[in-house]
Amino acid sequence: MTPAGEIDLGAVAVLPGLVNAHTHLELSWLRGRIRETDDFPGWIRSVVSLIRSTDDHAEEAEAAIWRGIDEAVQCGTVLVGDISNRLVSSAPLAARGLAALVFHELIDFKAANARKAVADGLERMKAVPSGERLRHVLAPHAPYSVSPALFEAIHRERNGVVRTSVHLGESTAEVEFLNDGTGPWRQFLEDINEWDNGWTIPACGPVEYLDRLGFIDDRLVVVHGVQFTRAELQRIAAAGATLVTCPRGNLRTGAGMPPVSDFYWEGVRVAVGTDSLASVPDLNVFSELAELRRLAPDVPARALLESATINGARALGFETDFGSIDAGKCDALLAIAIPSGVKDVEEYLVSGIAPSQVRWLPPAEK
Ligand SMILES: [Zn+2]
Repeated sequence: MTPAGEIDLGAVAVLPGLVNAHTHLELSWLRGRIRETDDFPGWIRSVVSLIRSTDDHAEEAEAAIWRGIDEAVQCGTVLVGDISNRLVSSAPLAARGLAALVFHELIDFKAANARKAVADGLERMKAVPSGERLRHVLAPHAPYSVSPALFEAIHRERNGVVRTSVHLGESTAEVEFLNDGTGPWRQFLEDINEWDNGWTIPACGPVEYLDRLGFIDDRLVVVHGVQFTRAELQRIAAAGATLVTCPRGNLRTGAGMPPVSDFYWEGVRVAVGTDSLASVPDLNVFSELAELRRLAPDVPARALLESATINGARALGFETDFGSIDAGKCDALLAIAIPSGVKDVEEYLVSGIAPSQVRWLPPAEK
């Protein structure tokens, strides 16, 4: 018997709803369509050719977004950092009430198009639902797909305060492209007629490149960093930017194995993302934590759990609502059943939790 208004949860760990700091809900319809590979540029080519056929799969693509949102919630997610090129996830996110910072991603390597790309992006953002729990900002895709002029135009729009995100240091091909102007990305841009002859080879690594463009600051969400050197990680840490790691996707897309321990030991603020269903089988952040634990057995479980909660909430600007159990925050809390015999609960929580173990607590009566 419990007194009225009290619930006996049994043996559970109560924790704040998880933050999936990097996903692409609009790619959910690609689940299972792209094979695991060790060729990252080849993987991107497959994604791009499928994206170009989205209109032929419009109904399926939309249904997959709704399913993706429901799946994320069932897996204990309270907030997402959602990359969106078409802004088709905004209405479903609003309808389901899943909090999100939507990064409206721009891709254009031709410098002459930069101003128009930003103006069009801002117009599209005005046309979709938004609110206190559903915010939109502009974001550049990556150094090999966005012109320096477009990086600068987006940065001007940020006005020193607006958050943004970028895929950075993901593949060796990107490092080659920035250092030498050669390799698979140069070839790809030429093949799709996006190469810009006016582009000057920066002859540096990805972090230095973005720093020169004024982009590295504490409002930046850097995604991947698989290829970052220790010196680059130190620079990210010193700037106070957040690094979102998506280890399962990195391994399946051929980007490589992220140096997870280095991320933590260099003092970077690390958050966690599942990336899209084009590269991973589910949107379960707990599965991502299990992969992090496998890759970095020396990082304390508590630090991994912070990455999946408060660090993600901070990175997305929702730390007053989510990310920890505190007075005044939303009571979006999870109860995870802990089997008898478990000695280290934090360690158990990063060992792989199935959706069937996740239960949302009812909001407290006020
Ligand atoms: Zn991504």
